[in-house]
Amino acid sequence: EALSLRSLIDDVVDLYELAAEEREVSLVADCPEDLIVSGDPVRLRQVVANLVDNAVKYCRRQGEVRITGTADPASLVVRLCVADTGIGLAKEELERVWDRMYRGPVQPEQTGLGLGLSLVRAVVTAHGGRVRAESDRGRGTTFTVELPTPERRR
Ligand code: ATP
Ligand code: MG
Repeated sequence: EALSLRSLIDDVVDLYELAAEEREVSLVADCPEDLIVSGDPVRLRQVVANLVDNAVKYCRRQGEVRITGTADPASLVVRLCVADTGIGLAKEELERVWDRMYRGPVQPEQTGLGLGLSLVRAVVTAHGGRVRAESDRGRGTTFTVELPTPERRR
């Protein structure tokens, strides 16, 4: 099924607007309307939601969460980045965050089971894509998902 990345992002922004407001985090989305990914709409929306959930939850108060969609026509992928201005992740942690049940040294009010990112990776991989995380300790983290365009999947 062909899906607009922009509408997936818009749905998730609607869902998290209130949580972001409560933490005084600004949610900024920037994605052209013509980016198309293909796959399971429920699962792909969950991918975006889990990344935004984390970014809002682990961002510092009054920080910023930026969701961007870009196309890479050369490699026929669509790229989704979710960047926050949170505490960031240490190098050792960056590899472990994708593991099932892994939780970092989180604050008590940051609840969760440690499942969000393992699901993100499983869904993205099942759609022929890949994931990565980059972080600047103390400055924030960026999670990137690359999904093949419908042309490439054909
Ligand atoms: P759940 O997603 O099941 O509610 P969770 O958020 O703890 O719980 P994951 O989404 O899998 O689980 O994330 C695993 C761990 O990675 C988190 O506990 C946190 O330590 C770290 N992490 C994830 N996203 C970020 C982020 N944006 N900034 C800093 N740390 C993060
Ligand atoms: Mg999570």
